[in-house]
Amino acid sequence: MRYSGFRVIKEALTGHKGWKPVWRDPEPASHYDIVIVGGGGHGLATAHYLAKEFGQARVAVIEKGWIGGGNVGRNTTIIRSNYLLDGNEPFYEFSLKLWEGLEQDLNYNAMVSQRGILNLIHSDGQRDAFIRRGNAMILNGADADLMTTEAIKKKYPFLNTSDARFPIQGGLAQHRGGTVRHDAVAWGYARSADSHGVDIIQNCEVTGFRIENGVCKGVETSRGFIGAGKVGCAVAGSSGRLLSLANMRLPIESHVLQAFVTEGLKPVLPGVITFGAGHFYCSQSDKGGLVFGGNLDGYNSYAQRGNLPVVEDVCEGAMAILPMLGRARILRMWGGVMDMSMDGSPIIDRTHIDGLYFNGGWCYGGFKATPASGFAFAHLLARDTLHPTATAYRLDRFRKGYLIDEKGVGNQPNLH
Ligand SMILES: Cc1cc2nc3c(=O)[nH]c(=O)nc-3n(C[C@H](O)[C@H](O)[C@H](O)COP(=O)(O)OP(=O)(O)OC[C@H]3O[C@@H](n4cnc5c(N)ncnc54)[C@H](O)[C@@H]3O)c2cc1C
Repeated sequence: MRYSGFRVIKEALTGHKGWKPVWRDPEPASHYDIVIVGGGGHGLATAHYLAKEFGQARVAVIEKGWIGGGNVGRNTTIIRSNYLLDGNEPFYEFSLKLWEGLEQDLNYNAMVSQRGILNLIHSDGQRDAFIRRGNAMILNGADADLMTTEAIKKKYPFLNTSDARFPIQGGLAQHRGGTVRHDAVAWGYARSADSHGVDIIQNCEVTGFRIENGVCKGVETSRGFIGAGKVGCAVAGSSGRLLSLANMRLPIESHVLQAFVTEGLKPVLPGVITFGAGHFYCSQSDKGGLVFGGNLDGYNSYAQRGNLPVVEDVCEGAMAILPMLGRARILRMWGGVMDMSMDGSPIIDRTHIDGLYFNGGWCYGGFKATPASGFAFAHLLARDTLHPTATAYRLDRFRKGYLIDEKGVGNQPNLH
């Protein structure tokens, strides 16, 4: 069924009886050409592009819970391509371009909102670093704009620009950045993949890999064995646990990241802002809630809930630049499990086991990467070659020393 304004009016006039389930609930087949493990944003996007762009129809997505129940439905919805390094910037810019055409591609309203993102500057050194990053972005075909404090005051009057502990000295803006409704991204990709013949199998946990003579023949699941020509793993925070079933130890640690949302307020924050002297970022949802977050919890965990010291740290960051947030009531807080890689950059690659492919290490920046990650992983699975924008995301770069350390903090995953 195609969605359109005409369809909405027709259904409104006929009692909404014509809407169909958005995807099927099929029984798993005994064999697929490609099995994707993980029905998050990346797994579903991979299935969509495999079917639509690469003509692969015998594909299944295996999800242990329900689609959208992982990080794709838990993140703070920010998209951007404001990266410095050549290994990253072309990939994230490709992703932003795919976001720009996503709703037409999926025929689904994912509420892509290019309301802009602004990284605040608080020191001369930081200005130099941001100017360098902005120039790198422009050289890679992205947009970047150095804003003065005066211009920031006009757009964001609630920021504390007068007596702040860390005075705002300008900001690096990417006006094409913004937010996208996260769970709609999962639903839109699922709907499109399903309509192209992909089987989305929920409540089915992968419990092992069948590997014979160094070749992956399929996956053991809670609903029996499913054979596959190729298996692609895209399970984000569960990457280490899943790949340990194939006796692999990944250069990844899992950490909790928390987020918060306040009661609905009148429009006060037109874009996304990030604090440059601490770890805090905030945007306002279309329902009016201020959605914000900050640092990772400092220990390894697979729990989807966090601890109080980080809550305090995030609130300190908020009060430092957005004191009016202290008057708003927090409605909800939650956590997701981040697959933090050693250099803070992702991995999209084959493994040493034939037929077994890996996509992960997205840290807390994987939502914005969803379209490009899906496209690049589909490219790799279908053609066995790396997508041109993702050639740096090799699994062996940690052994060979070709790190993509965007933040420059070394091999300590929780600092990226
Ligand atoms: C609080 C928070 C805020 C964030 N904010 C942002 C942001 O603003 N911008 C941004 O770019 N990124 C952000 N992120 C990061 C982003 O959400 C993730 O990097 C990205 O969603 C991970 O990819 P995914 O969507 O495929 O993961 P998921 O949605 O977690 O998908 C993985 C799926 O694999 C399934 N799975 C796991 N093990 C198995 C198994 N054995 N068998 C079958 N299925 C399995 C899980 O159930 C899950 O559904 C944030 C994350 C959090 C938690």
